[in-house]
Amino acid sequence: MVFLIFAWAFLMGACVGSFLNVVILRLPSDEHSFFTKRSYCYNCHQTLYWRDMVPIFSWFILKGKCRFCHHRISFRYPLVELFIATLALLCAVFAESPVQGLEIFIFCTVLVAVGLIDLDTWMIPLQLPILVTLTGLGFGYAQGMDVFYSRLIGFVAGFAFFALFLLGSTWVLRAVKRLQPDENAMGWGDPVLIGAIGANLGWFWLSWMILLASLQGILLYFFFSWTRKPLPDDDWVPPQKSMPFGPFLALAAIEISLWNLI
Ligand SMILES: [Zn+2]
Repeated sequence: MVFLIFAWAFLMGACVGSFLNVVILRLPSDEHSFFTKRSYCYNCHQTLYWRDMVPIFSWFILKGKCRFCHHRISFRYPLVELFIATLALLCAVFAESPVQGLEIFIFCTVLVAVGLIDLDTWMIPLQLPILVTLTGLGFGYAQGMDVFYSRLIGFVAGFAFFALFLLGSTWVLRAVKRLQPDENAMGWGDPVLIGAIGANLGWFWLSWMILLASLQGILLYFFFSWTRKPLPDDDWVPPQKSMPFGPFLALAAIEISLWNLI
């Protein structure tokens, strides 16, 4: 019986991961039809067969190529599906209650989307961090006032500190003419995301998250700085040897969530 619940969690997670791939692809674009529009190949625009959309497996059966035009399909799709499926399984196995499992699953799933969208486009769609801010504070309130206040402080402190950092560094860089009068030192996505993470991890773990994200960012910077290519179809080319901070924030927050869970 327990095995059936675990298998169900894994399969549901794989399906959520499959949907998440669509969200990651379509949310930053103008294409906001996540349910109504059938999946299609981005190269030849052929509508996909249902058997080509089975999470994790289809990619391997198709050997990572489109059935119609043989265009390469990124390995990231099955990887995201496998990761979300494993996440669901871990939540089912280790969570102290179904509510705790659901909370961590929602938080980490949204962070995967935020991290990958930021990596792709250098933008964080604000509705995602705002969504997990609300769920984090709501789940915290349900667990008692001390949890709620810890998360509220995490949210306010995280957002306020990095908003001030953004405004301050923008002001300084504009004053020394390193930025145009209409440019910001960084986007508003990062402060909002840090606030959202504080609203889920609480103020104590928020500080560890920022430390972990910075350390991993510095480490991975050396690996990615020389492989990074300018994004196609984008008139704003990221400065050389730079990376968005959002993916590292998301990664560190996922690691701490799983650390606390297991
Ligand atoms: Zn195709």
